Amino acid sequence: MAPVRTTCPYCGVGCGVLVTPDGKGGAAVKGDPDHPANFGRLCSKGSALGETLGLEDRLLAPRVHGAEASWDTALDLIATRLRETIAAHGPDAVGIYCSGQILTEDYYVANKLVKGFLGTGNLDTNSRLCMSSAVAGHRRAFGTDTVPGTYEDLEEADTLVLVGSNLAWCHPVLYQRIAAAKAARPEMRVVVIDPRRTATCDLADLHLRLRPDTDAALFNGLLARIEAQGAIDTDYVARHVSGFFEAVAAARVWGRERVAETCGISFADLSAFYRLWIGRERVVTVFSQGVNQSGGGTDKVNAIINCHLATGRIGRPGMGPFSVTGQPNAMGGREVGGLANMLAAHLDLEDPAHRAAVAGFWNAPAMVERPGLKAVDLFEACGAGQIRFLWILSTNPVVSLPDADRVAAAIRGCDFVVVSDTNAATDTMQLAHVQLPAAGWGEKSGTVTNSERRISRQRSFLMAPGAAKPDWWALAEVARRMGWAEAFPYESAADIFREHAALSRLAAGLGRDFDIGALAEIDDEGYHRLEPVQWPVGGPARFFAEGGFFTGDRRGRMLAITPPARDTAPGLKLNTGRVRDHWHTMTRTGKSARLSQHIAEPFAEIHPKDAAARGIRAADLVRVSSPRGAVIVRALVTERTAEGALFVPIHWTGQAASAGRVGTLIPAVTDPVSGQPALKAGRAEAERFEAAWHGFAVSAEKPALTGADGYWVLARGEGCWRTEMAGTTTPADWDAFVRTMFGAEDAEIASIIDTKRGLARFALLREGRVIAALFTAREPVEVSRAHVVGAFGSGDAGGLLAGRPGAAQPDAGPVVCVCFNVGVNTILDAITSGAARTVSEIGEVLSAGTNCGSCRPELNALLASVPADVAAE
Ligand code: SF4
Repeated sequence: MAPVRTTCPYCGVGCGVLVTPDGKGGAAVKGDPDHPANFGRLCSKGSALGETLGLEDRLLAPRVHGAEASWDTALDLIATRLRETIAAHGPDAVGIYCSGQILTEDYYVANKLVKGFLGTGNLDTNSRLCMSSAVAGHRRAFGTDTVPGTYEDLEEADTLVLVGSNLAWCHPVLYQRIAAAKAARPEMRVVVIDPRRTATCDLADLHLRLRPDTDAALFNGLLARIEAQGAIDTDYVARHVSGFFEAVAAARVWGRERVAETCGISFADLSAFYRLWIGRERVVTVFSQGVNQSGGGTDKVNAIINCHLATGRIGRPGMGPFSVTGQPNAMGGREVGGLANMLAAHLDLEDPAHRAAVAGFWNAPAMVERPGLKAVDLFEACGAGQIRFLWILSTNPVVSLPDADRVAAAIRGCDFVVVSDTNAATDTMQLAHVQLPAAGWGEKSGTVTNSERRISRQRSFLMAPGAAKPDWWALAEVARRMGWAEAFPYESAADIFREHAALSRLAAGLGRDFDIGALAEIDDEGYHRLEPVQWPVGGPARFFAEGGFFTGDRRGRMLAITPPARDTAPGLKLNTGRVRDHWHTMTRTGKSARLSQHIAEPFAEIHPKDAAARGIRAADLVRVSSPRGAVIVRALVTERTAEGALFVPIHWTGQAASAGRVGTLIPAVTDPVSGQPALKAGRAEAERFEAAWHGFAVSAEKPALTGADGYWVLARGEGCWRTEMAGTTTPADWDAFVRTMFGAEDAEIASIIDTKRGLARFALLREGRVIAALFTAREPVEVSRAHVVGAFGSGDAGGLLAGRPGAAQPDAGPVVCVCFNVGVNTILDAITSGAARTVSEIGEVLSAGTNCGSCRPELNALLASVPADVAAE
């Protein structure tokens, strides 16, 4: 059987995937060599997609007030409550919150229902958290939300600048493309601008470790330097740009000394960056969450775009500002108006002519007239009792939004909450009155758009399990029950796509950039076979080389940017972000044992000086707290994070950890233009979490931890669950404790107790087989996790309780390469023995880094960590 061509559901790179179903609900996955986003590459997350298809934790039928129900019952109730809410409180008492995970067709129907038929603008999305500052910056500068360039530009640039963007972990295939381009053209220069020393810095010729939120000052200074050096493209500016003089006047006060002092970087490094940017015409400035997730994110975006407009370096090969989106379909959502302040097809909600055109196209009875509430405000309004009906699709705001406990309380207090998701047990799903089973990746069909405006098909290759249905179907069914059957007649995703394409043709006629009108008459077969295609379909690959902006005067706009005052609030600056092998709230990646091998526990990166000042040692548990909440995570003492700062990952939920939701710490501060929350700019303190005991467990069944005292984190191991834990009081009866935790009253217990050293090890056996084991100690448990998990799988009870390999067996150490299961000790051995002196040689000797390549930055870091004289011996 020929593999099914589909698209990875994780990041905005939008890699093509070839899937071969195994006929038993699973599938083999590999990169699509013909997809222009990845040309066959996949990162660790994409490679492990086949391991995430299991039905455990799936919601398989609608549930109403906790009881299983039919779709008819659930949908009738939703329609009734919608009608009642609007009748009693008006349409603005309704809110729909969706996700960059859903497909364009789902988004299109949600937007049409809310903005054309319910008559409110209250449709927002978790993409607000990801890139809405980029959208706002694009709209201010270009008149519409246009990404001017393509991925090739990143490869063709002579100077590539990555601002607030850890591509190596967050967009790994794009990172690999850049790494390959740099290897082929060693004269290419890469500058990373980031307060953290991330894995991406491995590729950097220059790393500017600037203070958080000083990017606008840096790029204002660049604009001033561009002018001072006579590098303005006066012809381009004269013909195509407005606002030049005001922007330059605002920038001129940012001389290099002031910028260097403000950003906390050396004058020499700053000057080197400006030379690399100004002195080489082919410059691409890539930006993502480090720019967007800020109280001044939109200004940062425009400060970057200003420099490209002033030099005319936009829309030509190897030149331009480039926003990379975090989510697989953030761009598709933008195209259909999936943000509360957008209309559809890049038409402006504020423009009466645009609204009238869409109302006519939809035959809409209640066309929205003003923008709705953006994500943070939407949940604020919920808490204030203004939103009475809330429908959340494919996202987990109880984890991902700032001030997350307040968000949970707001949802809990809402009159009527619907949650559509694949997963039965997310933190948000638990608060729903009606739970709807959504079809997931591989089960549903539609399109997504990646960061370079390329639309790709997601194709189904599995039957949707149980009663799971695509989101567009559920939305359209509710619309029909509301009396709008004629406007929502869709029988397939293809029907919706055709309408979406036809609307884009109308929008193009009104002078907008987004145009896929050539696909409006595509038949079902053509839709099924649709090849990845960039928009505007049939148009140029890039925008703005010759002007043609989408503003009233067709000129691009430079803006006068005033950088914010320095943040001198007390406490450690709290940065948040992703880890290499997990995605969002782990509802998918958490199913793969392989993906939990790299990092299985939430952590706080803390600088050695900050750690020492607080008595925190490596691997201690730390309580990180702010006035809003606290998390308990493992201390990672490292100079990767600057002094005075912390970094905590975003992925851990109430399902995976006792206290790992970093969103609970972050204030709900948003960018005033975009409404994007400043998720990297909280303040927090860190202190040792004083535990009476620490533990590590493996078990065949999920342990019962919900009421555990202290700390726990659950992760999948190969054929088992693995749990890190700690308690504030030592159990009086360890045997009873382990029996209760592992639900094994009848199990035999073998134990090794070393009272003097405070160590205890327990194995629970049933019919001679180990069903669980717990290692405890007064300090963080020092056993080889990889060995214990392996010994558990092989049934080697003696080897298991030993906690590490015998003398004859080397300890591979924590896994670095998840594709080939290669541990850090194995790699270091190869380096120190001289068997491998480069990443390629590590690949030849150990295979590490030769499949998805996601670990190559870490291989490079390991090579760099071994002094040359040691490696040479
Ligand atoms: Fe998926 Fe990785 Fe490609 Fe992103 S880079 S789309 S996560 S395979």
